[in-house]
Order: sequence, then C-alpha cells, then structure tokens
Amino acid sequence: MDEALEQLRHLSAITSTLIAVYDADDRLQYANNAFRAAYFVDVDETLSWPDLMRRNFERGRGTVIRAANFNEWLKSTQSRRGKIGYRAFETDLMDGRWLWMTETVQKNGWMLCIASDITTLRAEERSVRQDRDLAIRASQTDELTGVSNRRFIMARIEDMLIAAKDGNVGCLAVFDIDNFKYINDRLGHHAGDLVLCDFAARIHQNVRRSDCFGRVGGEEFVLVMPGTSLEDAVGIVERMLAVIRFSRPLADSPDFRYTCSAGIAACTLADHVSDLYQRADQALYSAKLSGRDRARVA
Ligand code: GH3
Ligand code: MG
Ligand code: MG
Repeated sequence: MDEALEQLRHLSAITSTLIAVYDADDRLQYANNAFRAAYFVDVDETLSWPDLMRRNFERGRGTVIRAANFNEWLKSTQSRRGKIGYRAFETDLMDGRWLWMTETVQKNGWMLCIASDITTLRAEERSVRQDRDLAIRASQTDELTGVSNRRFIMARIEDMLIAAKDGNVGCLAVFDIDNFKYINDRLGHHAGDLVLCDFAARIHQNVRRSDCFGRVGGEEFVLVMPGTSLEDAVGIVERMLAVIRFSRPLADSPDFRYTCSAGIAACTLADHVSDLYQRADQALYSAKLSGRDRARVA
C-alpha cells in the first residue's frame, strides 16, 4: 500500500493531466505540477478557488473568462460549482489550451478536479459544444440576478431529500423580500430590480459551496442546505437577514433600506419536495404575520 501511494505521488508529479483537491471551503489543498503550472500556483500555496481565479484574471492568464466582468462570472460559476456529486465540462486557458475538466464532490464537501488536454480533439465541433454549454448554463440561471433559477434549485431540493434518506438530513429556507410591492410602487420597477439584484448578490456572497441559493420567482428566493441541522440553518439564515438589514442598495436614495423574512424547515424522511416547501412557506407566512424582518422555523 505504501509502495502504491509512493508511486501514485510520483506519477501524479510527472503526468500532464491536471489534478487538484479542494476542501469544503473551496481552498486548494493539493495540486500536482501540471495543475500548478496551468493555473500559476506556487508549491504549498493553499489559496481559495475564487482568489485563484481572480488573481489569474487580473494578470491575464489561467481560465478564459467570457463575461462582462469578473464578479458576474464568479457569481454565475459559483452558483453551479460543487453543488452536485459529479460534473464535467470543457474549459479553455489563456495559453490556447482546451481542457476537459471533471469535478467530483463527496459528502464532506472535498472536491477532486481532474483535467486533460483536449486541444486537438474534435476541435471542429467545439463551437457547437460551447453553444450547448452556454444553453445549459442559461437554462439553470436566473436572467435578472445571475443566481440559480427555479429549475436548478428545485433539482437540488430533490437531491437533498434523496441524501436525507441516507441519514444526511438538511434544511430548506424560503426568503421573501418585505413590502416589495411598496418599493416598486414608490421608487419604480427599475429600483425594484436593483433591490432584487442587491439581495441576490449579498446572499450569494454568504452561501457555503455545499449549499445552493436561487431565485424561484418574483421576490422569492430559496436556500438549500444539505446535511445541516436546524440550529445551524437558523444561524446561517439570521446572519443573512442581518446582512440585508445593513444594505443600502440605491445610490440615488442613500437612506433607502429594505428587509426580508424567511421560513425554515428541516427535511423528514417521508418528504416530497412539495411537502418540505410547503412547511418552509408556512413558516415564512408566520414570519410575515409576526412583523417581518425575521426568520421562523416550521
Ligand atoms: P410582503 O412583505 O407580504 O411580502 O409584501 P410584498 O409587497 O413584498 O408582496 P407582494 O407579493 O404583494 O408583492 C410582490 C411584488 O413583486 C409584486 C410584483 O409586481 C413584484 N415583482 C415580481 N417580480 C418582479 C421583478 O422581476 N422585478 C420587479 N421590480 N418587481 C417584481
Ligand atoms: Mg412574495
Ligand atoms: Mg414580499
């Protein structure tokens, strides 16, 4: 066994296949030589994935980023990264190489990334594959806010309920912005849209990689927290409500502030998506009734 591990270590150092391991907080914990060379990581550097991507973007190297700005790209990519057990996609580097990247995530949140060079492979069909990937991305993303959409988030609730049957119980939170109709009526639909984008961006910044956050419609959002106790879920949601309370999203109205209410429910083994959602929704209703700007548990 020791001999096999020793050989594995040596082989991973000389292979041209890129290998990396990230922990549950998305910090790079291992990268072989090929990976470090492609993404400009020093030996024993353990920076976070967003920091790694940002650093390379600023220096015009690493991943090619096709987006209006880095933060938009980061939000949209993070909305999908590490949310499902396995994912594979094509990605290109500023040096002209194309990679086939796979991501494997285990329950404790650690992720294995393996990428092989496919630069010369079926290059003529690449634009078709890129179009398909963009279409998949669009079908999973909310157009206004850039976070996950209803379709993607509902599938993650389904995943959480399947994992719950193996004893990995989680929680669902439903958020609804308070008095949003009044915000629209008083300040206009455009200001309403800015508030929606502010809400999505601020909550997104506080979402753990193993959780999934998305907009399900109007001013209603959902946070899926697999393998999370009710107590931890309440803590997470209350911190998010506090972040929103301190936000001043409108440059034209610097005193403008807004709040949001949340309902939280824990999975039970018998739950279907609609059962769990309904309980979280009832808890949200009771948060609204008891004065808004608070979280209630089902
Ligand atoms: P409550 O505190 O009880 O949640 O009150 P509310 O006013 O937030 O709730 P209500 O459901 O009455 O209002 C939601 C409003 O959200 C009505 C609708 O016009 C508006 N809305 C839905 N989608 C969008 C959108 O994409 N952009 C904007 N600006 N407004 C939207
Ligand atoms: Mg509503
Ligand atoms: Mg509302």
